[in-house]
Amino acid sequence: MHWADVIASRLKESGGPHRIATGITPSGHIHVGNMREILTGDIVHRAARDLEVDSTLYYLADDFDPLRKVYPFLLEEYSQHVGKPLSEIPSPGDDGGTYAQYFLKPFLESVEELGIHPIVLPSSESYREGKYAEPARILLDNRDKVREILTRVSGRELKKDWFPYNAKCPSCGRIDSTTAYDWEEPLVLFKCKCGHEGKADIRTDDGKLPWRLDWPARWFWLGVTCEPFGKDHAASGGSYDTSSEIIRSILEKEPPMSVVYEWIQLKGKGAMSSSSGVVVSGVDMLKMTPPEVLRFLIAKNQPGRHIDMDPGLGILNLVDEFDRYEKNFFEDTSEEDPDDKKRTYVLSMVNDIKDRSGTEQIMNVPYRHLVTLTQLVSDMDHLVEKLKRTEGIDKFTKRSLDRLSHRRSCVDFWLENYAPEGVRFTLYDEPPKEEIDNLTDDLLSALKAMMQDLPSIEWNAESIHNAIYEGSRSRDINPKVTFKAFYRILLGRDRGPRLGFFLSTMDRDDVLRKIRIALGE
Ligand SMILES: [Zn+2]
Repeated sequence: MHWADVIASRLKESGGPHRIATGITPSGHIHVGNMREILTGDIVHRAARDLEVDSTLYYLADDFDPLRKVYPFLLEEYSQHVGKPLSEIPSPGDDGGTYAQYFLKPFLESVEELGIHPIVLPSSESYREGKYAEPARILLDNRDKVREILTRVSGRELKKDWFPYNAKCPSCGRIDSTTAYDWEEPLVLFKCKCGHEGKADIRTDDGKLPWRLDWPARWFWLGVTCEPFGKDHAASGGSYDTSSEIIRSILEKEPPMSVVYEWIQLKGKGAMSSSSGVVVSGVDMLKMTPPEVLRFLIAKNQPGRHIDMDPGLGILNLVDEFDRYEKNFFEDTSEEDPDDKKRTYVLSMVNDIKDRSGTEQIMNVPYRHLVTLTQLVSDMDHLVEKLKRTEGIDKFTKRSLDRLSHRRSCVDFWLENYAPEGVRFTLYDEPPKEEIDNLTDDLLSALKAMMQDLPSIEWNAESIHNAIYEGSRSRDINPKVTFKAFYRILLGRDRGPRLGFFLSTMDRDDVLRKIRIALGE
């Protein structure tokens, strides 16, 4: 059974309705590693709905957290905002909004593009609306017990003057420089390092609970029943352990079912993290990967398995793999799905589908071919024309054309920003003189041989490929030499795209003309 169906079955058994919570602090560009959280939540949510479980997906934006430091991508003037809630700092862009909105907006747009439609709850609003008032009151009333649990479960000593509330100072605006010292329901008395003394009302956004209490408090008021989170929170004595004991023994509710996910590593660079700068932003990832392929990356891997992401050639392999799953879904019509391949495909789709009916297999061009063709033609019409010839396609459906157009823009972005150097090329209009002068005798003989074979064969990738191999071998020429000869006169390099396919995308006459120029004929 697919991992999401296993979790969904457990949710169904435990009754309902279910509330699946995901969340993130919008302190900077939200990277693709963070996307695993909301994608995991959505995939479980879809699986639950397929089992007719009453399920709702939430996205809790921790915009009431303080800015921790002046990140490298910020101007130095942001030092005056360190310690203030992200929802109360001006945007680093020119959108006139807040800091939190600036980073949340593109992330939420990406989420929509992935077919995820969560209810978005910014924590600044939840505090302002008094959602936290009841759990905060209970926790403050029971602060000795809270302290005992945090100390015992996490094994960390708390400061003598620790008080489970972070007031926001109305004078300096910081939420991380106040010390609360007393509690007169509903007010928390505090002093700030700036000298201000005041009282914070827990029924509004005068302050917030510290993280290890904020988490069980939100489980309490929202009624969270399932939550995916990163393995850092799952460590023994970590925040899931402390929050679970706090909600059970003080707030008297059950903690949500946990879905612990592993990090996404950037190949060769380690775990992605905003602070280390090792990131591919979620927005970039969606500009170079079709949304169903990004969903697929998360759906096909158990949450507990780490994912090695290679934004270079790895993207091409990933799209190819998705295409194989799609082909299998439509072509293997048996009910069996021993490897969960069909289920993985269904859960990867942006628009919810349950079976083959009402949908159709989309004609796919091998992604590598698209990488070559995108560099040869500049517009969709020419691309379609070339595909009709090279792939033997008679006509495209509207959905195929839409996908083709989207994939082409992904390839464009990838070539521009992430493709390894060797993949990009520029085609010569004709081989330049210095290139011709450098052709060695064996390269010239290979081209001469090809001048005899190419005019008479069928002009498609396979025939060209065969002609190059057989034509070379029959004349005792190493086919590698022939390949090199073509790449030199077409691209000015030793290597290039698959030659049979590459030549088939061009007019035969044009290829022959270039060979003649190279041979000086
Ligand atoms: Zn202050």
